Amino acid sequence: MSQLLTGVPASPGIAIAKAYRLEAEESIPQQRKVDDPAAEQQRLRSAVDAAKADIDRIRETTLERLGPQKAEIFEAHLFLLDDPDLIDTTLDQIESDGVNAEYALYEVASSIIEALQSMDNEMLRERAADVKDITGRVISKLEGREHSALSELSAETILIAKDLTPSDTAQLNLEFVRGFVTEIGSRTSHSAIMARSLELAAVVGTGADASAIRTGDMIILDATAGQVIVNPSDEQLREYTTRKAEYEEYKTRMRSYVDRPSVTADGVEVELASNIGGIDDLEKVLANGADGIGLFRTEFLYMGRSSFPSEEEQYSVYKHVLEKMNGKRVVIRTLDIGGDKELPYLQLPKEMNPFLGQRAIRLCLDKEDLFRTQLRALLRASMHGKLAIMFPMIAVLGELREAKRILAEERAKLEQEGTKVSDTLEVGIMIEIPAAAIAADVLAKEVDFFSIGTNDLIQYTMAADRMNESVAYLYQPHHPSILRLVQLVIQAANRHGKWAGMCGEMAGDSAAIPLLLGLGLYEFSMSASSVLPARELISRLSREEWAGLAEQAIGMSTQQEVLDFVNQQLRSEA
Ligand code: PEP
Ligand code: MG
Repeated sequence: MSQLLTGVPASPGIAIAKAYRLEAEESIPQQRKVDDPAAEQQRLRSAVDAAKADIDRIRETTLERLGPQKAEIFEAHLFLLDDPDLIDTTLDQIESDGVNAEYALYEVASSIIEALQSMDNEMLRERAADVKDITGRVISKLEGREHSALSELSAETILIAKDLTPSDTAQLNLEFVRGFVTEIGSRTSHSAIMARSLELAAVVGTGADASAIRTGDMIILDATAGQVIVNPSDEQLREYTTRKAEYEEYKTRMRSYVDRPSVTADGVEVELASNIGGIDDLEKVLANGADGIGLFRTEFLYMGRSSFPSEEEQYSVYKHVLEKMNGKRVVIRTLDIGGDKELPYLQLPKEMNPFLGQRAIRLCLDKEDLFRTQLRALLRASMHGKLAIMFPMIAVLGELREAKRILAEERAKLEQEGTKVSDTLEVGIMIEIPAAAIAADVLAKEVDFFSIGTNDLIQYTMAADRMNESVAYLYQPHHPSILRLVQLVIQAANRHGKWAGMCGEMAGDSAAIPLLLGLGLYEFSMSASSVLPARELISRLSREEWAGLAEQAIGMSTQQEVLDFVNQQLRSEA
């Protein structure tokens, strides 16, 4: 019998494929003393042989299905399992320290991984992931567990996991992964955001229900409705095959908006920009005809590695993005680490409430060297396009002034050194803390723009952790209290002749766009896949009409009332 699970529709799309369950991260092996190191060495050799046999099997299947190029990676894995630096050193360590094989292997591999990750060469850094992968495989053999790795996928798959970290999501093989389902997470958790930028169907926050799904179960993932059907009937399969085709047709219609301007029915031009996490996202941004980049989350440059990216490395990334966007505005946000985004090599003390702790600009103002390196890279890159620098998590004017003072110092130093910095560089802030929204008129005087970060603004206004699905009902972007804050911010910006944008998830929400337009928002920054539907929607709306309707919505009592009102208006206009 089929089973229906529901969760949060995190990234739209319909997928039909078999499930693949991704097990939680392997644990760190415990150290044990062994009496017979020679026998332990033999255990290691046998486990390595067994791992090689597995990899060889995967290589064969990949070769058959996808050809030699895709199978190469597994040849590299086989080669690594013969690498004396890894295997002989581990054998030596078992003997010299009299410890168990899994512990010795883990120790040796960790130091190799660390060394590779700190290299400047990207290919070598990628090898760190390979060493990790094969080490995990051998350790699973030693511990008698089945190893599950994303790289093993060789057929269309829907991934099922308790949770996916941003780096798990970044590593997904898009050739095979058609979508994913996670037990925890919300629309604004980073794996959800990543799924939207990869245009991958995803349902998150199903709760423990999804834990019953097994590898091989047939799955219909209707991520547009937030539904997961496990082992569907033939009739359901037929129905969803049709729906999937209809959905694909709709996407084709949207494509006709790629080269059109973002303009309302009454001729008001707005900017429909895109959020990115790195240069890999650019392709989608360009393919969807975005008017610019409204948020580059630079923290992803710092994550999944063991040391800080150098000024040079950052400069080349920022320059690349600016050049690719070819004169369109690129808003680059300075490091926003903390909250749910950790940086292990920064070794920050554990905090009771990381979302209320030393994150983003607070951390950068404390660790000035880190901040200055990023600012220098940005200032240097400013000559290669239309750059706007944005500071995250500004709560009070003092933080903005301090950040601008440091920026001005770095600019002066660069200019003294003879390095040019753009004269048209804009400096703005995210408005994502209620204090900043309420005092937006004060802040507006000292910035070029605001970008409203509703993901955080809503969590702080509602006092509801954006990662906690038991309070996800309080993520209410259409609630009049949120609309009032948004209105304050837009009005403050416009009164001071500055532009107001939004880069939180609300900016791409089709039931919020008409209200935001009516409130006078100029720039909407969203995942690349939302740009075309937003452009099509905006082309049907009159800004003047929605200015009046937004006023009415703001006077309502509940989010539901606002939603019903907006949907009814949209239906009557259709
Ligand atoms: C936000 O808070 O709305 C935002 C865009 O930033 P992030 O999701 O990266 O915290
Ligand atoms: Mg934020």
